[in-house]
Amino acid sequence: MILTLRTDSAESTQALAVALAELVQGGDLVVLAGDLGAGKTCFAQGFGRGLGITDRITSPTFTLARQYEGRLRLHHLDVYRFDAMAEIDDVGLDELLDDQRAVTLIEWGDAIMPALPNDLLELRLTLGEGDDDRHIALRMVGPRWAARSRALSTALEPWLADAPGAN
Ligand code: ADP
Ligand code: MG
Repeated sequence: MILTLRTDSAESTQALAVALAELVQGGDLVVLAGDLGAGKTCFAQGFGRGLGITDRITSPTFTLARQYEGRLRLHHLDVYRFDAMAEIDDVGLDELLDDQRAVTLIEWGDAIMPALPNDLLELRLTLGEGDDDRHIALRMVGPRWAARSRALSTALEPWLADAPGAN
């Protein structure tokens, strides 16, 4: 199932991420796709806020993976610079994904899809018409998310692209 969402500012993307964070559970995996500057890290910052994380979330590009403590732990990865599946082993991805007290958020995760479980939420961010407009295609994959599809649609209604008054 796919939801088509729109935001018209960085704050709006972060508010959407907060709404989503309220629905996540330990063991969840969220993949962020989209070009440089699309807003993946911006989303991650809002998502962290929604998890009650007070530390500032920065791009993990040079650290492979960073951990933050909140209502749930957040494993934040950016795999843009991963040039081989070997790096997935280096970062211990399977152990991160097995952490039932944590949510794993992977920027550029679509690049390593074959290494990921078939149970994830993918958000693909693309630039819209104006400088601050973004289109977000949210795809629910697998039973974990199917069970929450209705709750997700309801929580994200303010950003639905085809809803009346959508921005
Ligand atoms: P990425 O991690 O995808 O490379 P960043 O989140 O680091 O992208 O950068 C996105 C930039 O775009 C930020 O400077 C942010 O303020 C800006 N921006 C403007 N409008 C939006 C929007 N609607 N959603 C997300 N970011 C936006
Ligand atoms: Mg980024």
